Amino acid sequence: MTQTFTRRLIFTALVAALLASPAATPRGQQPPPQAGAPAYDLLITNGRIVDGTGNPWFRADVGIKDGRIARVGRISPAETRAVIDARNQIVAPGFIDVHTHVESIYNQPAAENFVRMGVTTLVTGNCGSSATNVAEFLGRAQKTPLAVNLATLVAHGSVRQKVMGLVNREPSPDELRQMESIVEQAMRDGAVGLSTGLIYVPGTYAKRSAPSACGARAR
Ligand SMILES: [Zn+2]
Repeated sequence: MTQTFTRRLIFTALVAALLASPAATPRGQQPPPQAGAPAYDLLITNGRIVDGTGNPWFRADVGIKDGRIARVGRISPAETRAVIDARNQIVAPGFIDVHTHVESIYNQPAAENFVRMGVTTLVTGNCGSSATNVAEFLGRAQKTPLAVNLATLVAHGSVRQKVMGLVNREPSPDELRQMESIVEQAMRDGAVGLSTGLIYVPGTYAKRSAPSACGARAR
């Protein structure tokens, strides 16, 4: 069995175990703790921990309870409901992919292509292309919960296109004000910054002043 295939199996098992854990049920529906119940829902054992702080790796077990890391150390399999043997694999906090284009993520809320690589947080809206109604975009997670954390930038190109289409000219003062207003609202609604795509249409039509004005609203 190749190492890649083994790793894939472990990620698959991790995802399956997390989905099947009691943490996946709404809080109000969880059964009360029973005497003698295992301390952990899931134990990831025999892994090499890379904790993301810059420390060298170390060998330890990870105990998960109610969807959260409850303990890192030596943990007996007797204390848990389920075990994933991560022998000689890396166990790390979820990775953050800061450059994604996942405006369509609600069509695939499990985001398996990311989760199977260990990516658990996505930043979308890059390269000048994003949702322009950020409140609506992020709010859709209420109805369609995502398996990953999601953040978005608001994008100059999409804002420009919304206000003035794909024409190759400077925005009028009124159009520029509309663009600034959309950016400001998007930031209030939770966007984490402004992106540009000045080699793409329509960002490539912009002189420096318009992206700068939008950027000022994003500060
Ligand atoms: Zn990009």
